Amino acid sequence: MIADRTITACCIDDDAHDHSPTVTTTPGKPGQYDLPRIQRAVREILLAVGENPDRDGLQDTPRRVAKAYAELFGGLAEDPSRHLARVFEQECDEIVALRDIQFHSMCEHHLLPFMGKAHVAYLPKGGKVVGLSKLARTVEVFARRPQVQERLTNQVADALIDHLDARGVAVIIEASHMCMKMRGVSQPESIMVTSALRGVFKSDAAARNEVLGLLKG
Ligand SMILES: [Zn+2]
Repeated sequence: MIADRTITACCIDDDAHDHSPTVTTTPGKPGQYDLPRIQRAVREILLAVGENPDRDGLQDTPRRVAKAYAELFGGLAEDPSRHLARVFEQECDEIVALRDIQFHSMCEHHLLPFMGKAHVAYLPKGGKVVGLSKLARTVEVFARRPQVQERLTNQVADALIDHLDARGVAVIIEASHMCMKMRGVSQPESIMVTSALRGVFKSDAAARNEVLGLLKG
């Protein structure tokens, strides 16, 4: 049973303090997607920005947004191990790399999209490999959540090292963030690059150079 808790909206960003009234809320749970609750919240946002949610063009917007969010945040209810559980044995002691995995995610600070490409590589141990599509699926499961790019990069690397028992894992993510393009510092061309190295790619310079060369193309 989850107790109600009281939170106060306050300064959590670089923006000025606001003095919004205290709101009472019940935390959500992964896998319990509350469609009507999102519809009510979207209607409230429309009212709060000074719109009329009952006008023709907006009447169906809360329902559409709630449906879209079910998809965009669907990764919260998914366990990445589902995709990585099906390993198969293959004589392989060379790096396996998949470049240019397209993804989109939602920045958890602004609930605006960020999107780009993930490049993923691992060095199998004991011939344990997965289908290439499973690497893309793993990126997708973590991307379809409220995210920050640094955590997304680390979560993908940790999932691969944990489930494949790989000798090394390397993940590079390049993404452009709508919260940088459309607001704040307005840097429309900037690309954020993050990387996560595990195992031999972290400890061995020659292995690291090899994998980074592969991932950068
Ligand atoms: Zn942001």
